[in-house]
Amino acid sequence: MRTPRIDIDIRKITHNIQQLKKLYGAKGIEITGVTKLIGGNPKIAAVLVDNGIQILADSRIDNIKRMIKDGVKAQYLLLRTPSLSQIEEVVAYADISLNSELKILKELSKCALIRHTIHKVILMVELGDLREGIMPIDIDNTVKEILELKGINFIGIGSNFACYGGISPDVNKMNELSSLAIRLENKFKISLTIVSGGNSSNYNWFKSSKNIGRINNLRLGESIFLGRETLCRKAIPNLYTDAFTLITEIIEAKIKPSKPYGKVYQNGNGKIKKFKDKGEMNRGILAIGRQDVAISGIIPRQDISILGASSDHIMIDNTRSNLKVGDTVEFSLKYKALLRALNSSYIAKNIIN
Ligand SMILES: *Cc1c(COP(=O)(O)O)cnc(C)c1O
Repeated sequence: MRTPRIDIDIRKITHNIQQLKKLYGAKGIEITGVTKLIGGNPKIAAVLVDNGIQILADSRIDNIKRMIKDGVKAQYLLLRTPSLSQIEEVVAYADISLNSELKILKELSKCALIRHTIHKVILMVELGDLREGIMPIDIDNTVKEILELKGINFIGIGSNFACYGGISPDVNKMNELSSLAIRLENKFKISLTIVSGGNSSNYNWFKSSKNIGRINNLRLGESIFLGRETLCRKAIPNLYTDAFTLITEIIEAKIKPSKPYGKVYQNGNGKIKKFKDKGEMNRGILAIGRQDVAISGIIPRQDISILGASSDHIMIDNTRSNLKVGDTVEFSLKYKALLRALNSSYIAKNIIN
């Protein structure tokens, strides 16, 4: 089978979804499945839906289109605030979007009216991580205006954490979101169907809280696919962290010096590097490079180490494993490496189990 490829273990992903549904469901939290990591891969998305995930969320409208085109039946949520230049596509393909700008909401409204449809919106509230969200002080005025927009159904509020600022969704932040939801419901005589507390970083808060207030939704990507919470990147008990495996192939294996020789200038990455002379060594080259994965985010499952990489090659220390040309090397992937690899057209995606 061709390399490089990523083996995607559907049985492990299924297990993770079922465990997370049980865990969060026990206190009334529904899971929105976040598909941006898998680039909207319809086969994997279908597994989420088959296991009872009703809303699929992605930051890119192209990924949503891909899943719809392949017949994955779900409600689709656009995670990143719509761009003004994409309003028509957003209303055409996404049932729900996360929003933080009235200017954009007004355009969504206009477009929904023209298309004779209703577009659902969740208003994101800034609670300290400083990515998307409206400042709490501006909420009341904004909600008042949203409620006057035709073609728009205001279904909830949400917050996001641990993305830009690394801020934790702790009990204070979640209480703030809860109180806000209750206050808006009372003041405007509305009922919010979704109060979305955050993402995979909400695990610690959830585990340590008896009373989770009005929070009834989390948007999970990394926990489902990599089995981790994201504040400390600890494995969540009983989940698989190895559902994805990167498989690469040795295209050169030779005994060579450990130190480059000749006059030293910039290398392919624009760096002037220093090397230690450790004598001759068993070196290997893998047919994959920086263009395909984030080298810092891949961890070998065999006894080799990465010496360096260029756009299309990774050089490894092959001393302990003595791998031959044609042998494969397997890697685990961290989030960023997996994101890039799954979205690289040069890497085959192979569903197993
Ligand atoms: C990516 C994203 C998520 C999912 O985050 P994970 O850490 O993968 O669970 C949730 N919400 C928003 C707004 C996102 O952009």
